[in-house]
Amino acid sequence: MENFLALTMANETPARREGKGASFHWRWLARGVLELIPEADSERALVLSAGIHGNETAPVEIVDLLVRALFRGELSLRCRLLIIHGNPPALRAGKRYLTCDINRLFSGRGTQFPACEETERAALLEDLLAAFYRQAGSDRWHLDLHTAIRASYHERFGVLPQRNQPWDEAFIQWLADAGLEALVFHQAPGGTFTHFTCERFGALACTLELGKALPFGHNDLTRFATTHQALRALLCGEVSTSHAGPVAQYRVVQQITRRSEAFVLHMASHTLNFTPFRQGVLLAEDGEERYEVQKPTEYVLFPNPAVAFGLRAGLMLEKVA
Ligand code: ZN
Repeated sequence: MENFLALTMANETPARREGKGASFHWRWLARGVLELIPEADSERALVLSAGIHGNETAPVEIVDLLVRALFRGELSLRCRLLIIHGNPPALRAGKRYLTCDINRLFSGRGTQFPACEETERAALLEDLLAAFYRQAGSDRWHLDLHTAIRASYHERFGVLPQRNQPWDEAFIQWLADAGLEALVFHQAPGGTFTHFTCERFGALACTLELGKALPFGHNDLTRFATTHQALRALLCGEVSTSHAGPVAQYRVVQQITRRSEAFVLHMASHTLNFTPFRQGVLLAEDGEERYEVQKPTEYVLFPNPAVAFGLRAGLMLEKVA
């Protein structure tokens, strides 16, 4: 099972679906989904996902390195682990998605779209996660690894789902130690993978944006070394010693939604993530609807005028720390 990624890409079902590794028992659950249960008792259950967007390959390569290190016995596993390559057909095609963006389909939102391979995949992942967390205690983490489409004032950052309970300090510290420069806190529920695990299972969940997307084999993995190292330590149950300083924190204050053909986003196509806009600036128009900056300063995240109707064309943030 060391060649899990190759199997996933080739869409092959392994001859053996479970077995023993150096420090764990493994089970192949579906294409791109592998469960590893450590021999040593462990409180923590960690879901590590990558490739939810098929063109974001660097995190898939990092997860592959971790899987290989575990199977070679270089890493001794100390947490229950579910590895997920999110959208294998899109990974093969080198595309963000084939029919619809999986990361908008969770928490039942897939039923609002015509059935396709990706609505099916989201439903399957929901079921597998439910089974995985059902066997676990309350120490639940979910790290969903991505790379951003556009350049950014913060090269690496995390986006955290809406959560009613306070965030665990050790979790936030781990994200800083993993090299994130900023954290963005959602204030409303959404259809992303991390919203689903946080809302449904109370998991400490974060979407990690780890730099710019490049095709398979063209990624400079040294740029991801800090995150890779932090993940290795996490799997081994090691407490990080390299305490990074505090990270910038933002919260979402408004969402720009494209509702019609008339939608216009008033931003240059090369606008960087976290670009600031002053109060009163017109951000977007959609027929009668106008989006303006409400707070003294708001920062844009994920501006994209080309999304389908009803979907997010950008988020506006306020800096809180
Ligand atoms: Zn992504």
